[in-house]
Amino acid sequence: MAVESISFTLPTRAGTNVLNITEHVRDAVASSGIKDGIACVFVPGSTAAITTIEFENGVIQDLVQAIERIAPEDIPYAHDAAWHDGNGHSHVRSALIGPSFTVPFTDGRLLLGTWQQIVLLDFDNRDRKRKVIVQVVGE
Ligand code: ZN
Repeated sequence: MAVESISFTLPTRAGTNVLNITEHVRDAVASSGIKDGIACVFVPGSTAAITTIEFENGVIQDLVQAIERIAPEDIPYAHDAAWHDGNGHSHVRSALIGPSFTVPFTDGRLLLGTWQQIVLLDFDNRDRKRKVIVQVVGE
């Protein structure tokens, strides 16, 4: 069994920024040299998240609006009262979706559905440079 850790960094914009990172994950698995196993895609930080979605404008808009209904930006947050950084909603959104996604692969191919893309969601209220770690485990 082998373990390889590969990371990449992407610029993100303030607000709910949804970025398709599927090709970055594919490249990370390829560069690991591991043929069969699992890849854990993880974003360090408490205002971002990783999930999968069909990367299509309609459903991305639907997801952004659903997140806005679940954890609206314009309501009071205890975090903002304590820290005054204005991103209470970003932390709650990140916690609800979660910071990682694990995908199995065989013969170097990610076992994603036809329209299933891996996305990084950045919820912070300022532009960021976001590091994503792909931890590849297999043989
Ligand atoms: Zn904060």
